Amino acid sequence: MVGSNGNSSIGRLYIVGIGPGYEEHMTFRAKQCIMDSNIVIGYETYIDLIRHMLDGKEVYAYAMTQEVDRANHAIDLASKGNIVSLVSSGDPGIYGMAGLVYEVLAERDWDGMNPYVEVVPGVSALNACAALVGSPLMADFAVVSMSDLLVPWDIIVKRVEAAAQGDFVIVIYNPQSKKRVHQLRDTRDILLKYRSARTPVAIVKSAYRDSQSIVLTDLEHMLEYQDHLGMLSTIIIGNSSTFIYKGLMINPRGYKSKYELVREQV
Ligand code: SAH
Repeated sequence: MVGSNGNSSIGRLYIVGIGPGYEEHMTFRAKQCIMDSNIVIGYETYIDLIRHMLDGKEVYAYAMTQEVDRANHAIDLASKGNIVSLVSSGDPGIYGMAGLVYEVLAERDWDGMNPYVEVVPGVSALNACAALVGSPLMADFAVVSMSDLLVPWDIIVKRVEAAAQGDFVIVIYNPQSKKRVHQLRDTRDILLKYRSARTPVAIVKSAYRDSQSIVLTDLEHMLEYQDHLGMLSTIIIGNSSTFIYKGLMINPRGYKSKYELVREQV
């Protein structure tokens, strides 16, 4: 196998972020890496999103929760001289496969060169969902995952408390699943200690996919939208400056305190 780095013996492992869904939101580099690969590996839902690009390639579609196997498999194949794309939704460096691959490589005493490894950034759920609802991430924001599978719940609570106290806009990934529901409820209760019940909240499900749905609500009512809350949703919770206008969630950048915003054109 000949790598495009010119070295015939060194395989390549691209850890590719494919963006939120539609191909229009995938980067040129992501597409190029997938095209250049002879092997593509990923969680089956993401493989399905790019199926039309995979003709003639060896494809391994994994079920969820097999991340460690997926990472080792990708490393093994690249170590044998293949060009491998390990695909991740959104950005692979944000709750994606990049961290795990580097951890496994470190455990395997990787020399930093063979295989060649490249993280290919993608549009994450946070910027995809923000764009769909307006401009909620204009100022400082914090991102918290509600999944306590790998992080103890008491640490997540501390992070939520800190973000709430700091008046950060908060983006919530992995908000709830069928078995995991108290986390989002508890988070909302913590936020209500610091924020008004009227604080704007956006729930975006399946951004830039065919089943996309968007709900704009507030802290008091957010849990009433159970059909929209799940592992395919991201939640954006406003801070004390966030406002809703014409169905958009807007976080002011701060210009209004320094300038007059509406000016007559001469
Ligand atoms: N690496 C991904 C995140 C993976 S964690 C990224 O950068 O986007 C999985 C979580 O991401 C989901 O539970 C959901 O909270 C969020 N997510 C991923 N794709 C999404 C989409 N198209 N719409 C809304 N949320 C999404």
